[in-house]
Amino acid sequence: MNPAGYTTWLEIDLAAVRHNITRLREITATPIMAIVKANAYGHGLIEVSRAALAARASWLGVARFEEALMLRQAGIAEPILVLGYTHPSHAAEAARSSIRLCLFDALIADAYAEAARSAGGNVIVHVKVDSGMGRLGVSPGESYDFIRRVKETPGLNLEGLFTHFARSDEPDSQATAAQLTAFNQVLTELDTADLRPPWVHACNSAAAITLPAAHFNLVRCGIAIYGLDPSPECPLPPNFWPALSWKAILTSARNLPSGHGVGYGHWYVTTEEEYVGTIPVGYADGLRRVVPNEVLIHECKLPVFARVCMDQTILSLQNLPNARPGDEVVLIGQQGDQQIRAEDVAARWKTNNYEVVSGLAARLPRLYLNPS
Ligand SMILES: *Cc1c(COP(=O)(O)O)cnc(C)c1O
Repeated sequence: MNPAGYTTWLEIDLAAVRHNITRLREITATPIMAIVKANAYGHGLIEVSRAALAARASWLGVARFEEALMLRQAGIAEPILVLGYTHPSHAAEAARSSIRLCLFDALIADAYAEAARSAGGNVIVHVKVDSGMGRLGVSPGESYDFIRRVKETPGLNLEGLFTHFARSDEPDSQATAAQLTAFNQVLTELDTADLRPPWVHACNSAAAITLPAAHFNLVRCGIAIYGLDPSPECPLPPNFWPALSWKAILTSARNLPSGHGVGYGHWYVTTEEEYVGTIPVGYADGLRRVVPNEVLIHECKLPVFARVCMDQTILSLQNLPNARPGDEVVLIGQQGDQQIRAEDVAARWKTNNYEVVSGLAARLPRLYLNPS
């Protein structure tokens, strides 16, 4: 599929997103907040959000206020939570658009409340407890007083309480157990004063899959809805489908004589007459400038030894004498019975699959398969 004559593009299978959400609903039997931050992990904010909601995800979660606004501007009316910090200058707009904000600080709480009151509305908030991640959140010991204060502040509408696990993608993590205990203690204190808000959530994908005791009444799933493993130690259960493929076309193919330098710095030098090709993909697309990368052409895995340029990469076609310009190249995804997974790319780049897909550049066209 390449109707517009693109030279490189992403294919996003929205049927896979819908299928994965359905699988998560089966596995967790809990309402799903689809995490669509960072342009839906590179997959496309609006299209993925619509697909997730079509498969009956009930909430959307983003990292930044601007992402939530884009969803509202696209006409999406379902509840949206901003997981990160929102500047108080957005609080009036948050109140108007019913965008839920994360709250973890008393001064910020006052600023939101003030803005909401002048706008004649309420900011709906979810208080974040730092049960052990050491990032955003109110300490467990201070949570009860903080929540009591939020509850009594006009202009704030306390709707949720949540926490986030640091090590839920590791098997049998003591750290995760300790975080859950700390979070449950906060909930117990709140229950004695009837202060538990309507929505309580703790799980990311890994915990949603492995830790039912932490489901509460909402799970926040990101990586799993894209069909990607939470970590090598915590692979997805069977029957999840990767949604994203990255393709390109071969743009040149020709013979170079023996001893010919290839690419910047001549990192690679031919040792015999060699058939060499180029693909129109570079580090400005999110392809790392490391050696070797790997691609599929004619259902063969080819290592790429030359240095990645900004917009192009050179590769040896020595084993593919029939390769011609225009042939399909796969950087992530399937070709015949061969496959390169985002997890394989992550291992080569010594990072995780999250960084691989969320680092795919905005300039790559996204083509959406199976839109409904
Ligand atoms: C990104 C994020 C998630 C989703 O994590 P996955 O591992 O992708 O499922 C959940 N909660 C918070 C607070 C996050 O920042």
